[in-house]
Amino acid sequence: MFLWTVCNNHIFTNVERVRRNLTDNPRCMICDASDEDVSHALRECVEINAGWLHLVKPDKVLEFFSMDIRAWIYKNLLVPSYFPIQAEDWDLLFGSILWNAWLMRNQHIFNPDGRSRESLISQSYRMRDEARSALSPVVVLLLGLLSVIGVNRLLVGLNKNWEVSFNWVNRQCNSVVDKLVKIAKDLPLPFYRFLDSPTPVLDLLNGDAGVGSSSVSC
Ligand SMILES: [Zn+2]
Repeated sequence: MFLWTVCNNHIFTNVERVRRNLTDNPRCMICDASDEDVSHALRECVEINAGWLHLVKPDKVLEFFSMDIRAWIYKNLLVPSYFPIQAEDWDLLFGSILWNAWLMRNQHIFNPDGRSRESLISQSYRMRDEARSALSPVVVLLLGLLSVIGVNRLLVGLNKNWEVSFNWVNRQCNSVVDKLVKIAKDLPLPFYRFLDSPTPVLDLLNGDAGVGSSSVSC
């Protein structure tokens, strides 16, 4: 789910929040070095940038940091040996890093006293290992992978008797994510794959494209 929202530019970076009239400050609240768009939040901000530089082949760094976000995610998931120095389970590690980068960004802004002392990369390696061994259900991450690369990883987890459930969590004016989670909540497990966007989501996506100059209804 998370990677789907990233691919569709629906995570609420400050640039996106400005577009929706939720704030008037697009700057990154962690480093204040630039506006916080998706690329900055997940590739360029200080901690995530340092992490990527340790993991990506030196001759691929320029390409890694300059690709369009959607193409970048697809490349990392579908050709997992292309960018990393160590390609083993790169798709899982890559998704874990993105997820943890966003969690840590939100912790920094909304609960700075509650931040973990564990580094972003260390947390992500741990999450990857948990997913790999199927000892813990990293369901949100894998549903994100599911929407981009297929169902293989999730099926592995289900075959190992993971406990899978959907919970709807209210998200600030993010009607597309709200609708998608509500739809998923009522679908039969173990999984349901949409070949086309569900009509209610498509309508919201089309409506979302015009958001920006006027007020937003939740
Ligand atoms: Zn930053």
